[in-house]
Amino acid sequence: MQTNTLSSELTMSADGSLQQQCAEMGALLGLDAPVSEAVLKAALTDTTYAHHLLVSRGSPFMAHLLDHPPVVIANEAEEFTTSALLMRAGSALARWGKTGFSTVSDELYRDRLALCQNCPHLKAPPEHQHTLYAFAGASNGEKSVCGKCGCVVAAKARRPNETCPDAHPDRPGLNRWNEPVAQVN
Ligand code: SF4
Repeated sequence: MQTNTLSSELTMSADGSLQQQCAEMGALLGLDAPVSEAVLKAALTDTTYAHHLLVSRGSPFMAHLLDHPPVVIANEAEEFTTSALLMRAGSALARWGKTGFSTVSDELYRDRLALCQNCPHLKAPPEHQHTLYAFAGASNGEKSVCGKCGCVVAAKARRPNETCPDAHPDRPGLNRWNEPVAQVN
């Protein structure tokens, strides 16, 4: 089982309030209270900070990190969209955390990515969100984002709790990863 940084594998696939994501991140870090919005945004956009948070779980150093998150700079026009993406990312992160930050086998990872590479929905990150997507692991200008859910496929395909959101065009009951279509409860 591999453990990864909070931000390097983030995806953008679920809804939820910012307060909820702060609470979920707090729980992931073993805290009794939600993290601040500043900590959430910093953890999801600063790989080093996120890594330090993870490895300091349960140590006194965490309090210092929580009190001094790096400042995330976003211009006014980007703020709303960025916040929405961070909310989704936080929710996906929480779901992944419940799996213990586990990852699929290398073989399954390669298979999923190969199918994404041949999928008509794969696209380049939106022009105005290059920076945010770059933090999520997307390559600038290259097709690396799923057009159906907005996830960076290199990160999404690594997680056992993630699934392809599109039905296979020729195989009823399966998605484009040739896996059973997820049941909606
Ligand atoms: S996750 Fe599914 S729909 Fe999205 S790019 Fe990959 S194969 Fe296509």
